[in-house]
Amino acid sequence: MKEEEIRPEKLFDELLRLNREDIKIYFSDSKNTKINCSACGNEGIFSFNKDGFDFDECKQCKTLYVSPRPDKESFNNYYTNSASSKFWATTFYKATEKNRREMLWKPKAEMILNKIQYFSPDTKKVIDIGGGYGIFIEEFLKISNLKHLVIEPSEYLSKVCKDKGLKVMVKFLEDVEKNDLPNIKKTFVSFELFEHLHSPELFLKVLHDIMDKGDLFIFTTLSGMGIDIQTLWEKSKAISPPMHLNFFNPKSIKILLDTIGFKTLEVTTPGKLDIDIMKNNKEMINDRFWKNYIEYSNEDEKKEMQTFISKNNLSSHMMIVCKKV
Ligand SMILES: [Zn+2]
Repeated sequence: MKEEEIRPEKLFDELLRLNREDIKIYFSDSKNTKINCSACGNEGIFSFNKDGFDFDECKQCKTLYVSPRPDKESFNNYYTNSASSKFWATTFYKATEKNRREMLWKPKAEMILNKIQYFSPDTKKVIDIGGGYGIFIEEFLKISNLKHLVIEPSEYLSKVCKDKGLKVMVKFLEDVEKNDLPNIKKTFVSFELFEHLHSPELFLKVLHDIMDKGDLFIFTTLSGMGIDIQTLWEKSKAISPPMHLNFFNPKSIKILLDTIGFKTLEVTTPGKLDIDIMKNNKEMINDRFWKNYIEYSNEDEKKEMQTFISKNNLSSHMMIVCKKV
């Protein structure tokens, strides 16, 4: 898989351009509050400013995060009304839907089924938080007979799911109550949501409250210790505020999960794109080793390096399996 196949450069750059326009509209009057590291609570140190947002890095656990953080209302407004959100949900989505289904969602459905069979084989229901267009659940139901539910706050997206015949709860996670969910063994999943969260801690607390003991939570997010992000740093396109605010890593995410009361069962980085992303942005790499490596290595060597990166928790695409105990 190549980055271009799931994130065509032209569309991606247009998304980032619209995003920069939206920042002026939705964030110029926001109230900003200085925050500590979202993982370990220590004070961070300023690392860089990007598009008007300051990023702090925690010296203890290496979490990278936006601080001062604008108020939640500005984000709600931005996600509901902004041109970049619309562009993402319509133009970008439509142009990449087919490739994303084949290259991302099908393998992800298989991976999640394997995790469930291994860590929680008596799961009866899979609940996708922020399920969007419902493609994960659609693909998952092709290979599993488990019950399902999509929790999706957007009226538009939840209608798309309903039209596909999927079961949907039209709510924000924080409005879901324990009584809304059946008392059977459940696995909750969420994909590429965590990096967007205004308060990852609050999200996990709310989720922990509505889960039953023994329920599983599997999620994917960006790792700030991922090799492409570390190498490109502020020039990394993944560091795109106000969309992406939180960059945990395999070690720091465990600290946060422990604090909330989850037991972390596994952290992996099954990402496949780090080297390709670096190749696509090679003129922005300053590090001598990686700059030369990208030029010097052939395709087979790159492939092998990517396998090493993924295996050693060094990719920027991270998957976490945890449990309420
Ligand atoms: Zn920290």
